[in-house]
Amino acid sequence: MISSIKNTWNKLADTGTAKMLSEAERRDVRLFNRTWITVLIIQVLCLFSHVINGLHSAALTTACFIAGLCSLYFIVKNGYINQAKMTAIVLISVDTIVNGVVFGEQTHVIDFLLLAALCPLYFFEIKNKRLIFVGIAVCLVPYALFHFGAQYVAQYALPIATQRGLYNLITWEKYFCLMVLLYLMYNKNAHYEREMQQKENELLGQKKQYESILEQIPIDIVTMDKDLKYTYINSAAIKDPSVRAWLLGKTNSDYFRFRKLDMKGAEDRERMMKEALAKGSTVQFEETFIDRHGKAKSSIKGVSPIYNDADQGLTGLVGYAFDISELKEAEKKLKEYAIELERKNDDLHHFVNATSHDLKSPLRNIASHLQLLQRKNSDKLDEDSQEMIAYTIKSVKHLNQLINDIYQYSIADRNDKPLEMANLNAVLEESLKQMNDFITTKNADITFDVLPTLKMAPSHIGMLFSNLVGNALKYNTNLKPQVMIRATTSDTTHIISVADNGIGIAPEYQEQIFEIFQRLHTSSEYEGTGVGLAICSKIVENYGGKIWVESLPGKGSTFYFSLEKNLVDPASTESHNITAYKSMAIAG
Ligand code: ADP
Repeated sequence: MISSIKNTWNKLADTGTAKMLSEAERRDVRLFNRTWITVLIIQVLCLFSHVINGLHSAALTTACFIAGLCSLYFIVKNGYINQAKMTAIVLISVDTIVNGVVFGEQTHVIDFLLLAALCPLYFFEIKNKRLIFVGIAVCLVPYALFHFGAQYVAQYALPIATQRGLYNLITWEKYFCLMVLLYLMYNKNAHYEREMQQKENELLGQKKQYESILEQIPIDIVTMDKDLKYTYINSAAIKDPSVRAWLLGKTNSDYFRFRKLDMKGAEDRERMMKEALAKGSTVQFEETFIDRHGKAKSSIKGVSPIYNDADQGLTGLVGYAFDISELKEAEKKLKEYAIELERKNDDLHHFVNATSHDLKSPLRNIASHLQLLQRKNSDKLDEDSQEMIAYTIKSVKHLNQLINDIYQYSIADRNDKPLEMANLNAVLEESLKQMNDFITTKNADITFDVLPTLKMAPSHIGMLFSNLVGNALKYNTNLKPQVMIRATTSDTTHIISVADNGIGIAPEYQEQIFEIFQRLHTSSEYEGTGVGLAICSKIVENYGGKIWVESLPGKGSTFYFSLEKNLVDPASTESHNITAYKSMAIAG
């Protein structure tokens, strides 16, 4: 029973608090609720007493007062606290006057009731000074009227002289009570004022702190209201303090007019700002404009809406801009370098192409003439000369191979045709066909999986297979060399492996063999130029993949290369790099 009464009391005391924004406001509302509920309970008890004692007119005025107090519940519930306080004042005042007119014989009691009418004013906060004065007027006017007029006009049960006597009897007490009440109200309001002042100072301090943080950031930062008028501008945005102060409360167009800049820039900016306001989300754009010194300036600009924490209403915009003029300049230079590099690469390619072609035909002549010389004079040449000629022919052939390989290396990252889907099995079979003689001589056994189809130049994948399978056969002293070509696939990558049962490679050499001209054997042991794996590495890296080997001496080797499932045409990587650079610039 007691706990349910307590619950109801607390529930009633909490009426309307959910609509309040701060704990202080909630406390204020609870205090107000408890007061009018207490008055209500007293009035209900009075009503019972009047009814029991047959005081019908008293019961009627009390019932009206109770009804008025009940209406406070609905007013407070809807969050109209000040209106509720005003209603309470009016209710008490009206009730007091009515009581005064109906029960004039209790003049002194009525005076105190009128004084009580001032009580709810105690609950007004300082920020409602206007209402306090209205409330005081509402209370004091009937108080004054009653004070000065009632004693002459009222026709009460008591003789007028007795009424006046009673009235005079307690005049000083009434003044004292009035003073105490007014002092309490003043004191509370002064307290509120102090609190508000303190909060305002705190806020001002915080504002200054945030502003000084914003001043340290080398990015233009501004805020503006919903009418696109500046409310804050940091010194990075506008250096001149007097212009900065002048611009507050003005628009971007005002600034453009002031600086005599091209108004189109202002229109573009305004359009973005309006878009951010309409969409309620950030709008970012890149701007290039000619500043007042005639210099082209590029920047990334963004505007984001600012929302009021309390009601989520849009209050304005925050704008930022960071200068990317230097980045733009660097990007331009990078593009120029890329074009220059491409041109030089082309020159180099033509040079290699021409030289290899020009060198190969005299070399072919030298070799064939030497062979002819050897054949024609086989009976005249002694053994030493024969050996020297044979050695020279071998060297010429090696030189020819070297020229071939260097040429292949130079074109390993070039593909003049657009990329097509290459079926790796078809390309492998073609490569094996070309190596058929070698395979047969080595009596090798070559097996392979079903390999994927990838977007890459068939000539590139062909070069990979012929080098890796060629090496697997070459560096193999087995009577029956075994070569296995496999493919494993993860979510994003294919890994192709070429495994052999050859001589193997010591771990310390497993990285250097991918560098050009790095050989682990002399030409007399195994013929070669040291370019094959460098070609493979260049091709794979050009497609964004990796190449590596796992091997132990005498235990065979497995070469792996990885390729992305969705291969990007390497020819388009230039633009990719620029995009990545761009987004980095934006992020930075
Ligand atoms: P080349 O074969 O013309 O010498 P490569 O670049 O193809 O040039 O190979 C570099 C070196 O790597 C070779 O000299 C050889 O010592 C080693 N190598 C390459 N493939 C294998 C392999 N499958 N088994 C053992 N050694 C190998």
